[in-house]
Amino acid sequence: MKHMKRAVFPGSFDPITIGHEDIIRRALPLFDEIVIAVGYNSTKSGMFSIEERMQLIADVFAGEEKIKVDKYQKLTIDYCHDVEAQYLLRGLRTAADFEFERGIGQVNRMMADDVETVFMLTAPEFTPISSSIVRDIIRHKGNLTGLVPSQILAKISS
Ligand code: ADP
Repeated sequence: MKHMKRAVFPGSFDPITIGHEDIIRRALPLFDEIVIAVGYNSTKSGMFSIEERMQLIADVFAGEEKIKVDKYQKLTIDYCHDVEAQYLLRGLRTAADFEFERGIGQVNRMMADDVETVFMLTAPEFTPISSSIVRDIIRHKGNLTGLVPSQILAKISS
């Protein structure tokens, strides 16, 4: 489809949380395709490998044709151009997220005004959820119910 409305949802996804899943599902009606793109840089290793992160995301959205999963290692805005995305999707939880995202979003727009950043507010119940909290709970073998998508709960808890 030539004039497909394509959004990139970039992030570390180490691992994907129910907060990410919620933003993506709510954004689906707005776009023809959402590319969930795992951004990485070789100096930060993280808890899950890039391939594991991509597999977990694929498990969550299995059968959802509008979702693609990819990885990239460059400026997000350059990656958006590579995949011909006109939109860059980000989630906002708190004022701290807003300040951080404002800077990145405004500089991205200076670099490329053909990519529009779209923000979605987190659902209130998901505001405290982050990948770093999930990683802590995994390290200490806590219960991840309600924090990670149900499709990957068993896999990630084992
Ligand atoms: P990054 O390392 O780029 O912050 P993350 O994987 O932590 O990557 O987050 C990717 C995107 O998901 C960001 O836009 C972030 O604000 C959003 N996000 C993270 N956690 C939540 C949540 N609980 N609710 C809504 N959005 C979230």
